[in-house]
Amino acid sequence: MKIRNYINGQWVDSPECNTQPLLNPSDGALIGEVPMSSFEQSREATFAAAEAFQSWSKLPLPKRMGFIFKMHQAMVDNHEMLAESIALDQAKHIAEARGEVQRVIEIVQMACTIPALIQGETINGIATNIHGRVIKAPLGVFCGVAPFNFPALVFGWFIPFAIATGNTFVYKPSSDSPLFMQRMMQLIHDMELPAGVVNIIHGDRTVVEAWYEDDNVAGMCLVGSTPTAKAMAEGCGRNGKKAMLLGGAKNSLVVMEDAPMDLLIENILISGYGSAGQRCLASSNIIAVSQVYDEVVERLVEASKGVTVGSAMNPDVFMGPVINARAKQSIEQYIQIGVDEGATLALDGRNPAVAEEISNGFYVGPTVFTDAKPCMRIVEEEIFGPVISVMKVGCINAALRVVNAQKMGNGACIFTQNNYYTEKFIEDADVGMIGVNVGVCAPHPYLPFGGIKGSLVGNNKVQGKDAIDFFTHNKTATIRIVDPEGGTSAASKDNSVRSCVAG
Ligand code: NAD
Repeated sequence: MKIRNYINGQWVDSPECNTQPLLNPSDGALIGEVPMSSFEQSREATFAAAEAFQSWSKLPLPKRMGFIFKMHQAMVDNHEMLAESIALDQAKHIAEARGEVQRVIEIVQMACTIPALIQGETINGIATNIHGRVIKAPLGVFCGVAPFNFPALVFGWFIPFAIATGNTFVYKPSSDSPLFMQRMMQLIHDMELPAGVVNIIHGDRTVVEAWYEDDNVAGMCLVGSTPTAKAMAEGCGRNGKKAMLLGGAKNSLVVMEDAPMDLLIENILISGYGSAGQRCLASSNIIAVSQVYDEVVERLVEASKGVTVGSAMNPDVFMGPVINARAKQSIEQYIQIGVDEGATLALDGRNPAVAEEISNGFYVGPTVFTDAKPCMRIVEEEIFGPVISVMKVGCINAALRVVNAQKMGNGACIFTQNNYYTEKFIEDADVGMIGVNVGVCAPHPYLPFGGIKGSLVGNNKVQGKDAIDFFTHNKTATIRIVDPEGGTSAASKDNSVRSCVAG
């Protein structure tokens, strides 16, 4: 399969020589070749987007919104085809891939409310005959960079909001999971979106670095690891680009003595092993108070032994592979680090048994460390695989100290039926997203999504009204109304007018 760039309304072939193989992580088979585009090709895409901005930003809002409604319908009509593309190259389990597409459909629903959300403000009579107005105006071309693990979700976080507010877009999917965007772009092409409004460019950091000093680019957004977010923050900062940069994560889940135990274990499995642990809201640090620590460990290890591993397209298994050989090796190295640091390896997921026909896939089985300590690297660093560490603490305050010692502050969950614990946790946990009796604290698309500290490097979160703020600026107009018959003499004697023009 040939993966292609999409620039100015056309699918564009890249020179054959500069490509990267795209493998199916479930069995290691070659799916296609991904172009590694050049600096110049990246600039061609932003140029096309800048040209398109001239007319797209002037298109009446109902016409722009018409495309967002069509995008929503196209996703509903092609739900399964889109989910299969994610299950194929990213090897997200097919049930979770369907869930991801469904979540994006809900995000696009949110984007359909944009006419209500971009209404500005007016204040009349700030001086005699003078009014003030705030307009939520588009900025121009935005460029977005996606991680491998949510190819559909990140499209939804960026593109519908950017273009509905009147901007145009250049998008770089991850070269590990480009298939969703190939198919989604074809659906967008078929709805006859004007050329240049959305462009796709595949490649590595070269493509991104071409945007920093590109005068056509107003802002950049990323969902990726913290080092990538920091690198982009530097490039954007040096060149005055607006930036929305979501970084990496390491999330804790606190278990209090009154936790509903069946619900807890079910949710730890979904959170820790869903998407093979490659989720920015995976709860990989379990912090249990001493009264229930032994019970949590025993039940979690037993339940983890029952987690089945296999092809992402097999609905009968619980967990698919990790993204590639490099990720598998890195996760296995972390398991060894945990052993060397002195944690107890209660369940070792290295080299899980899988069927012969998928043995070239990149599998790591469920892994549980117990007796983990907050200072260990397996607790502090993002492993991004199906590895869970369990720690024992004395009370909610001690649990909060462990949560808040994290350098990244994406999400944290608590399992309890006690209101005091709940409210204290919501107030005192230093993270951007909280879950109470849920294992994955992903907010609904109507609400903002994003962390703090190392998990969010830019100015804004995604989703909700924050997305509107990022893709627009508050243009402020000061308007003096002149009576064509009476002139402005009365107003010019008014001192409030002079104070109005100060500054
Ligand atoms: P990554 O940072 O390696 O790559 C992300 C994207 O950035 C890719 O498209 C890549 O080509 C590009 N890139 C890499 N290095 C770059 C550089 N120096 N300059 C410019 N672009 C560069 O991340 P990944 O491995 O694809 O994804 C996993 C990471 O994403 C994890 O850290 C995970 O926590 C994070 N993530 C965060 C969220 C969130 O909501 N905070 C959501 C999903 C994933």
